Amino acid sequence: MSSMTDTTPALRNYFLAELKYVVVLIFSWTLFGAFFGYPISGTLFGFAVYMVWSLIQIYRLNEWIKHKKKSRVPVVRGIYGYFLEESLNQKREHKRENKKLKAAMARQRDLMEGVRDAAILVDASGKIQWYNYQARQMLDLKSKDREKPVLAIINDPTFIKYFSKGKFVEPLSLQFPAKSNHWVEASITKYKNGDRIILLRDITRLRKLENMRRDFIANLSHELRTPLTVLRGYLETLQIHPNTDDSLKRIFIQMDEQGLRMANLVQDLTTLSHLESLEQDRQEEAVNITALIERIVRDAQSLDTFKNHKIKTEIQDDYFLLGVETELRSVFGNLVFNAVRYTPPGSKITIAVSKPKSGLRVSVEDNGPGIEEKHLPRLTERFYRVDKSRSTGTGGTGLGLAIAKHALASHNGRLSIKSKVGEGSKFSCVFPKEKLVKKEQLEKSQSNEPSLRIVS
Ligand code: ADP
Repeated sequence: MSSMTDTTPALRNYFLAELKYVVVLIFSWTLFGAFFGYPISGTLFGFAVYMVWSLIQIYRLNEWIKHKKKSRVPVVRGIYGYFLEESLNQKREHKRENKKLKAAMARQRDLMEGVRDAAILVDASGKIQWYNYQARQMLDLKSKDREKPVLAIINDPTFIKYFSKGKFVEPLSLQFPAKSNHWVEASITKYKNGDRIILLRDITRLRKLENMRRDFIANLSHELRTPLTVLRGYLETLQIHPNTDDSLKRIFIQMDEQGLRMANLVQDLTTLSHLESLEQDRQEEAVNITALIERIVRDAQSLDTFKNHKIKTEIQDDYFLLGVETELRSVFGNLVFNAVRYTPPGSKITIAVSKPKSGLRVSVEDNGPGIEEKHLPRLTERFYRVDKSRSTGTGGTGLGLAIAKHALASHNGRLSIKSKVGEGSKFSCVFPKEKLVKKEQLEKSQSNEPSLRIVS
């Protein structure tokens, strides 16, 4: 809009000058013709002169536009001068913009050169376009590697899968080079034109610290287990010993309760550190979810806190999931036991298994007191409890949902929690369809040599 108002008066001026020029030219030639007794021929000749002059201006302008860079700016007059001026302005503007763009790009490259992560820019076809100093060091890139497919350089199968999938919400941790002691975290950003920038961060030190923390907890829980068992054994003996009077008995009972809490804590910590260790050898098998839930319901009914609870199961079929039975037991067990622990006697608990298109959903719903919304995002944090005093009274460790979340993650599943105060809570585990074992697969492994172990 602004360019219109800027250029319009100039165009009008040029146009008026042109008009003046045409009028003077035609009029002069008409006068000249009239002097010899041929005014009309004079006028026509004037027009012809103007036409030829115009054609020359157009030709010059066209030649210059065609070879803009090489030829000198032509001398054109009248209205054609206006077009020349406009074209020159545009050229200058374009040059300025180009310069700015180049400077911005150079600045961005300098910035990327300076970052501590390795950065690689690849185009839509996955070919390397550019990389920074860190990438050169980390991947030993040479200038001949430009235009090479990035997957030929980072040829780790997990990275290939991650890169090809095209979903880069979560970063990927991988050993790089494969099976070495080095770990990198890869994150990818995709641009509209298909370009992708790959950032690789060395997380070896972080991994080592994490491993140390995990090993420490695993060792500590292992070391605590034996003395705790011995102490609890003695406490039990002392409780039933004939020489123990009633007041002492009460003390021993309380000591044993605390011992049980510690034993549960040690057990949960062991489970959690086991789940966290990514290097562990996990043997997945076809687990009968229906049978597993039936067993968990029986165990829930023998809990101290089970008082007139009504557990209902809504399971239409025998569902099999590819997974580790102990881990799946931890997931569903924690959810069902929580529903018994944190709801008053007589509450209704519904365990439902359904098969939506996306995979398998196992949900545990209760009509208990519910959980305030502010707690929901933090429930799966270690040792997070809504009501600390109540939880300790129910024998909770604060690790149950953290374990459930981890165990689900190792099955590529996720936990969703919905709750309303006064109405109840619903915990749902969602497993992707790749984890579902189909009937044909089961029949095959039952008849042929079993490639898939079945747990039911
Ligand atoms: P804990 O071992 O203490 O039970 P969890 O991680 O299993 O720890 O649960 C965290 C907290 O979530 C519990 O302390 C409890 O306050 C709350 N919670 C879990 N399940 C339910 C439920 N079904 N109804 C109400 N509160 C629940």
